[in-house]
Amino acid sequence: MSKVILQIDGNNFYASCEQMIDPSIKGKGLVILSNNDGCIIARSSEARKMGIPMGKPYFKLKNKLTKLNITVRSSNYELYGDISNRLMQLLRENCEELEIYSIDEAFGTIRRPNNMFLYQWAKDLRALVYQNIGIPISIGIGETKVLSKISNHLAKKIQNNSGIFDIGIIENKDPYLNLIKVNKIWGVGKRMSIWLRKKGITNARELRDMSSNQIKEKYGVVGLRIQNELKGNLCIPIKETSSDRKEICVSRSLSYSIDSLEELSQAIIKYVLIASAKLRKYNQLASAITVFTNTNTHSKDFYKKEATEKIDIPTSDSRIMLKISLELTKKIFRPYRKLKKAGVILHKLQSNKYKQKLLFDQQYIEKDLSQERLNHVIDQINNSNGRDTINWGASIIEKEWRPSREKLSLIKTTNIESIPTIYAK
Ligand SMILES: [Mg+2]
Repeated sequence: MSKVILQIDGNNFYASCEQMIDPSIKGKGLVILSNNDGCIIARSSEARKMGIPMGKPYFKLKNKLTKLNITVRSSNYELYGDISNRLMQLLRENCEELEIYSIDEAFGTIRRPNNMFLYQWAKDLRALVYQNIGIPISIGIGETKVLSKISNHLAKKIQNNSGIFDIGIIENKDPYLNLIKVNKIWGVGKRMSIWLRKKGITNARELRDMSSNQIKEKYGVVGLRIQNELKGNLCIPIKETSSDRKEICVSRSLSYSIDSLEELSQAIIKYVLIASAKLRKYNQLASAITVFTNTNTHSKDFYKKEATEKIDIPTSDSRIMLKISLELTKKIFRPYRKLKKAGVILHKLQSNKYKQKLLFDQQYIEKDLSQERLNHVIDQINNSNGRDTINWGASIIEKEWRPSREKLSLIKTTNIESIPTIYAK
């Protein structure tokens, strides 16, 4: 039994999450807006069919959306994150290995049975996910990551495939690879596809069959890997852990300009807390912190500033990171500047398996342990009851500087208060 690669992807994920918690908008036109309700970042398939483009500013399309009776929602990342966790957990239970690739995408592996057919297995998994999570998924199956991505694309593109496609059992893949334009191939960036087109290579089959030397000369091992994966030779393995993450960045555009140190500090505190909780989730420690802010990029007196501090003993402790970043915030703040964006980057990340301690300082070790437990408890409470359920004294959550999310759906999965009440007589 040979191992095959699965590529699993939530269809129109953000829109599907919104439709799952609000059945009244199921099967209808729906768009999701970016932070601050700026641009359209996701669409339901119905909105896509009505010709609503991606990435366009909301205000430009507002009238058209109203006319077409399309529902508009602010992005609700807490909800999408929660649904994503549930989805990934279910996938992990059903695959041999699983690599979480993004909020709505994963690569998995499974053994191909002796009769070769995985269609029924994939169909059952799709049904299981829909029944338990309420989200439609597409499943692409192939010998390599690049081929499984292509398979997934075909699963979505060809209606009769009903969300599943297995290119691995197809002897002559040429007609299918001919359908895939080079810019749609996983790993082929914009520059590479322009270069390929100049060479007369327009689709996946042509890329698979072109001279390896030409690719190697221009794109080295990275290019060769893509070509080899198209040939069915596995070159890009499944990575089950995300321990190779090098940095965590949390930044937001602010709903209105802020010009006091206090407001900027509040924003930074919030982002440090989000970033450090992420760090602990991935069992990592940070060795440096950067905080940054800027005014509107189009403003005449554009101002941008960042400050970085090394952390002597790498840590994931919110308390230590808050202290350092508040000092840094003082360095980047300038009065009379209308700040529109702020953020935090934790970098030089390392695994917490090899935590460095001050070897002979018993008091330090004990303090560090109790601090670790405290952070852990806070994470647990916030994970099960919603972010900000319990917080650090330094963070008084002020509403005003929060990013605007006027059309936010109720978070019905992460907040106990937004669960609907049913009265029985
Ligand atoms: Mg998707």
